[in-house]
Amino acid sequence: MTDLAQLAKNVTLGPVQSSICWTTAVGKVLNLSGPLLVASLCVLAGLLGFTTYASYGSDAAIGIAVGAAAVVAMSQTLILAARPRLLEPLFGGLDRMYRVHKWLGISAMVLMILHQQIEPDFERTVRETGLGELAEEAGEFAFNALLVLIAISWFRRLPFIPLEIPYQIWRFSHRFMGVLFSVIVFHQFFVDMPTGVDPSLSVMLNTFGLGGVIAWLHTEFVAPRLRRREYTVSDISRHGDTTALTLSPNGRAMRWRPGQFAFFRAPEAGFSEPHPFTIASAPRPDGALTLSIKGLGGWTRRLPDALRTGMSVQVEGPYGRFDFRKGGARQIWLAGGIGITPFLAWAESLTEAERRNIHLVYCVRTPEEEIGVEILQAAAARNPRFSYQVVATERDGRLTAERLTGMVPFAVRGADLWFCGPKGLKDGILKGLKALDQTPRRVRFEHFEFA
Ligand SMILES: Cc1cc2nc3c(=O)[nH]c(=O)nc-3n(C[C@H](O)[C@H](O)[C@H](O)COP(=O)(O)OP(=O)(O)OC[C@H]3O[C@@H](n4cnc5c(N)ncnc54)[C@H](O)[C@@H]3O)c2cc1C
Repeated sequence: MTDLAQLAKNVTLGPVQSSICWTTAVGKVLNLSGPLLVASLCVLAGLLGFTTYASYGSDAAIGIAVGAAAVVAMSQTLILAARPRLLEPLFGGLDRMYRVHKWLGISAMVLMILHQQIEPDFERTVRETGLGELAEEAGEFAFNALLVLIAISWFRRLPFIPLEIPYQIWRFSHRFMGVLFSVIVFHQFFVDMPTGVDPSLSVMLNTFGLGGVIAWLHTEFVAPRLRRREYTVSDISRHGDTTALTLSPNGRAMRWRPGQFAFFRAPEAGFSEPHPFTIASAPRPDGALTLSIKGLGGWTRRLPDALRTGMSVQVEGPYGRFDFRKGGARQIWLAGGIGITPFLAWAESLTEAERRNIHLVYCVRTPEEEIGVEILQAAAARNPRFSYQVVATERDGRLTAERLTGMVPFAVRGADLWFCGPKGLKDGILKGLKALDQTPRRVRFEHFEFA
């Protein structure tokens, strides 16, 4: 390590760092507010259900409470699935929003099972109608079908067995949730219920019921037309199993912050399913953007052969809140494999004026796997506070926490760690850093998977 690096390691935190601590704390609270809000709404529906029907006996009250909480949970899964960009700050990004969506779906499944087991019986207290009976039967059918679909979604990847439902089949089954939820809303609207009770619960359930149905209709039929922008493939370059696509806007260009991602599809080439990819370039005056796509599965392996320059493609976004500018004065960027893409966008966006000290460690298996090194070189030439190192496992051995602390020109403890790559790499490094008493001040990572 150079004297300068050693000096930097010993420097105490200045006022910039402490003001960033505040924004970090505010950010953490903000990111938790989304999950807390959705959970509170489910609890509120449950409590309202229980108190509204308490006079009909505990069984009826509990049955209604879990049914009400299930409707609100399910409605919120559909609202989050609509990718509302406005709500992203409350969850810390779309990837984290999808995680809450998944757990809400699982909670709805458990609540539905409970609702079926403790089915409220008002037969003796209400006058039955034909519509009410239809609603009863429709509800039962939809509850059962939804349980099957949620179970399929949950068990997409079976634990301990390398068996996975192909994404396309999983997604196809997932799309029917909205239809079944609409039947449940019909059930809840028309099922025979005692009259003369406090209407607050009905108002809440009707609102969430309609909200969920509208969100699903928007996801399926409106958003695909509204959100997609047309681009033309202006360049395709291959590097091993990674393909870099340069896309130029046909009309109004998308505006994004470095580190964000977008959904890409190429219907003209027969690839209509949207897939998420990080925009691997910084915003440019002509609005062009780059995607670096690694062949990880059927879709991504076949795509490069089907694409030609001049083809029209569609981009939807931007999404995500992975942004190093929210971090502190000393940052470690750690990338594994194709996880380099957000860091390439960040590096390209760095100007001479950037005051943060940043060290990027880029792990690849072989040197041939490296992509975008010219962008990293240019960033390092522009700004002496930015440095980087490539660790090719086959040439240099595995990256360990100990090696990382030796590479970084400042103390890891007290710095921010930004990570994108395989989970195993992140977990191993964090465990090692903890053992060395070098736990970073803050760790932020991007998931390349939604579930
Ligand atoms: C926020 C984010 C940013 C990403 N950025 C990049 C990037 O810059 N470069 C890159 O090469 N890869 C990136 N990925 C990963 C990329 O989206 C997947 O590798 C790709 O969708 C796999 O598709 P496949 O059908 O070829 O592979 P499969 O083997 O079918 O899928 C592999 C996994 O990818 C996920 N996946 C598949 N299809 C979809 C879909 N339509 N929508 C969402 N997830 C899907 C599933 O979890 C699946 O298990 C990113 C993913 C996310 C979530």
